[in-house]
Amino acid sequence: MTVKIAVLKETRPNERRVAMVPAVADKLIKLGAQIQIQSGAGDAVKLPDAAFKDVSFVADARTLVAEADVVVGVQPPDVEIVEAMKEGAILISFVYAHKEPALTKLLRDRKITCFAMELVPRITRAQAMDALSSQAALAGYYAVLLGATNIARMLPMMTTAVGSIRPQRALVMGLGVAGLQALATARRLGAMTEGYDVRPETKEQAESLGAKFVDTGVDARGTGGYARELTQEEQDKIAAVVTRHIQTADLIITTAAIPGRPSPKLISKVQVEGMKAGSVIVDLAAEGGGNCEYTQPGASVQIGQVTIVGPLNVPSMLGEHASELYAKNQFNLIELFLKDKAVALDWSDEIIAKTALTHAGEIRNDAAKKAIEG
Ligand code: NAD
Repeated sequence: MTVKIAVLKETRPNERRVAMVPAVADKLIKLGAQIQIQSGAGDAVKLPDAAFKDVSFVADARTLVAEADVVVGVQPPDVEIVEAMKEGAILISFVYAHKEPALTKLLRDRKITCFAMELVPRITRAQAMDALSSQAALAGYYAVLLGATNIARMLPMMTTAVGSIRPQRALVMGLGVAGLQALATARRLGAMTEGYDVRPETKEQAESLGAKFVDTGVDARGTGGYARELTQEEQDKIAAVVTRHIQTADLIITTAAIPGRPSPKLISKVQVEGMKAGSVIVDLAAEGGGNCEYTQPGASVQIGQVTIVGPLNVPSMLGEHASELYAKNQFNLIELFLKDKAVALDWSDEIIAKTALTHAGEIRNDAAKKAIEG
């Protein structure tokens, strides 16, 4: 017996990534899997079908998944794909169940074992499977490049025959995986860096990257290493300190997120109106509505002399590396349950249990179950 793994071509707007790269396909084949890829799945990241060895190709997605034991993708698949899957097969992709209630119910009803990549627990043993982190690191890096190409100034100091140019001030708000990478990148480009977050442990992390920390005295540590929502009083206390930093910055990168909630608003309209002429905000939280009140997801807007960039699916802009890291994250998850050329799910394993969104006709994740079944 061999385990058949099917790789979908992504179809959602702005999505260029692919869930399989040749090096990962080779490793899965060594584990005894048989790989079928939807034709042209890697085209958007310049990964032609010919780059894959010992795999087969199928043009039609429904035909591709019909016999598969495991289906892999980046974005949640279309309903028709899940309808065409074998009952009891495994799906691995991002899902974000609260945004996909119909799909989640179908996964449940079709008895699909769905491992949702956003549910991988943030424990040390799962780090190699953590696609949120791998993709956020790329996004943090790229956000600085977007900022640098949208600002009509250089970031580093430069001494010229006609005088010297001062380095620009970069402020990063939200110091999770993306924010720390943005701080490191901005510094490498020669900017003076400042970091701000509501989790106090980020102070040391920012300082170790050569940045100053904007200390507001508010501690908003939540559960699981994430931040919690803030009270109005806390928000006012923060605004008093942060406004000064926003208004002296040349480039601001915002990355703040609270799991399952809309993006918190970190920069108000009034704060933008007080910013320096020519400065730029890159809002990495645009997908969730944005951290700035003026952000328009998927667009760049000019407010007075300030540019606000609200990019969508930033990891896809670095699609080649994003696909490579994502495919490796998925491989490490698959390796947990691909034993002796067969699927063997160990439900006592915290990673298997917590990453499962649906299994055997049930929604297994409590938050998703509550949101979808009430
Ligand atoms: P995230 O994308 O959920 O949020 C980004 C940042 O925004 C966080 O640092 C958060 O504190 C901050 N934020 C939220 N509300 C804010 C507000 N109102 N003002 C300012 N900042 C605000 O975060 P993430 O990158 O997914 O990481 C969250 C945490 O999980 C980090 O501590 C990270 O180190 C940890 N983590 C642990 C593991 C592991 O142990 N395996 C893996 C990945 C991440």
